[in-house]
Amino acid sequence: MLHQLGQILYYDLHSHTYYSDGTLSPTELVQRAHTNGVKVLALTDHDVTHGLAEATTAAVGLGLTLIPGAEISVTWEGQTLHIVALNIDPENRVLQAGLANLRDARVARAQEIGRKLEKKGIANAYAGAQAYARGAIISRTHFVHFLVDNGHARDLKQVFKAFLNKGGFGYAPGHWASLEEAVCWIKGAGGCAVIAHPARYKLGAAKLRRLLNEFKEIGGVGLEVVAGSHSPDDCFRFARLTQEFGFFASVGSDYHGPIHAWTDLGRLLPLPDGCRPIWQAWEGATSIYPN
Ligand code: AMP
Ligand code: MN
Ligand code: MN
Ligand code: MN
Repeated sequence: MLHQLGQILYYDLHSHTYYSDGTLSPTELVQRAHTNGVKVLALTDHDVTHGLAEATTAAVGLGLTLIPGAEISVTWEGQTLHIVALNIDPENRVLQAGLANLRDARVARAQEIGRKLEKKGIANAYAGAQAYARGAIISRTHFVHFLVDNGHARDLKQVFKAFLNKGGFGYAPGHWASLEEAVCWIKGAGGCAVIAHPARYKLGAAKLRRLLNEFKEIGGVGLEVVAGSHSPDDCFRFARLTQEFGFFASVGSDYHGPIHAWTDLGRLLPLPDGCRPIWQAWEGATSIYPN
């Protein structure tokens, strides 16, 4: 099956709008994907599906296929992981109830971040971040915008390192879904559960294998092999792991908008040879849940 044209991939299955921590509207995102040669785009906002209706309308107008998705925040063995949900039914009630709880957890965490920053002399950070969030979800990225724009930090890298990551003075843990809950919601909504950007988690070899075994056992079906934040070596390493564990391979830029540093829409390495592309799961070539 033709799925790439030079370095422009037809598929980009991980992206964000201003309904989470991206900066484009769903219409702008879809238009940019179309301009960049993407034919199949998944919108995967963090813990929310509010952008899907507008994105779908925009996609229909441009002859692009929009795959409904989300990126679900999970805590696994004390660590935050992101699970991309692809080809879900966004009307599914259990999924929506789960996502609503995660958005509440985001508000509680953001308030705690605000209190911690206040103690260090940075006033009104919660309200400031909220102003950037425009109401859909609140993310650490919104704190980045507030802190940088108000001269409290130099850039995004410094904010995460010194302020918001574990060890930073504004760090607050999120109370996210369990891995099992997230996978169950996704399966219940008819979708595919995929581990997002697996190379970004600081997991040792044994812990990574434990994660992949557990994910497989509970019904996870794919790994994001090609990701905007992966090096070519990361792509090959996770391509081998998809083959070893029998996972499908996904491809996604994790695009957040023109001001973010990561890869542009559709500007990704092709999937390494031998990977089973995740879109086969909904294009009918393979059954994702054998038996
Ligand atoms: P949250 O889900 O609120 O904890 O925020 C995490 C978000 O911050 C991710 O989805 C990224 O968009 C952004 N982020 C985290 N670390 C980095 C980084 N090193 N470079 C760029 N964006 C980052
Ligand atoms: Mn993000
Ligand atoms: Mn992520
Ligand atoms: Mn993402």
